[in-house]
Amino acid sequence: MDVKEQIDILVALQKNDTDADQVRKLLSGIAEKQRHLEKELTAAVSAKDAAAADLEGFRKSYRLLESDAKVNLELIRKSKSRLPGVKSNKEYQALLRQVEETEKKNSRIEDEMLAILDRIEAGEQVLEERKQDCLRAENAFETEKLRLVVETEKEETHLAELAEKRNQIAAAAPPDLMKIFMSTRKMVDGPMIVPVRGNTCEGCNINIPPQMANDLRRFESLNFCPFCNRIIYWEGPRD
Ligand SMILES: [Zn+2]
Repeated sequence: MDVKEQIDILVALQKNDTDADQVRKLLSGIAEKQRHLEKELTAAVSAKDAAAADLEGFRKSYRLLESDAKVNLELIRKSKSRLPGVKSNKEYQALLRQVEETEKKNSRIEDEMLAILDRIEAGEQVLEERKQDCLRAENAFETEKLRLVVETEKEETHLAELAEKRNQIAAAAPPDLMKIFMSTRKMVDGPMIVPVRGNTCEGCNINIPPQMANDLRRFESLNFCPFCNRIIYWEGPRD
């Protein structure tokens, strides 16, 4: 197998790796989007639940006050009914004072109930808004989820195709060449094989020695960039 063929194989393997990395990046971006959507939905549901709990709290306070007021009203009614039967003036005054105090207490309770009614009304409005937020988040989640699932399947198919193609290339390549590919790839970041245009290595953008550039043009052996250790091959200038 001549050097040009070997370089073609290495370039094809490198391109396959780069493409697969790109697809994996896309897939992780999709997964990130899915997590984000789920988070938004969870947050919307929590906000709705919190609003419902607030509202329930207000209603409970209202019911408690309401029952206090009822008890007091009954007390007032009973005390008033006892008034005509009271013998002494002192006792009469005491009972009257008790009625007045209970009435005052009830008046304060009624004020509180009115204030809580305002909060219930506001709470109902907030809950309604949170429910709408939730619906929007659910819709966005369902619509996007479907799209993201389709996208994921597409990219996973693409990844499987690339893996299949890589296996084919690797199976047809001489084992020694595969060893060079693997060991060089381990040694460098990014592509392990890059072209030299003019005298410049496209891996590190440093000019290689002119004699080396001349050697590259003859395609007699595999060469490594003395600066970045990538495999280099000569390629004519861009049009
Ligand atoms: Zn280089």
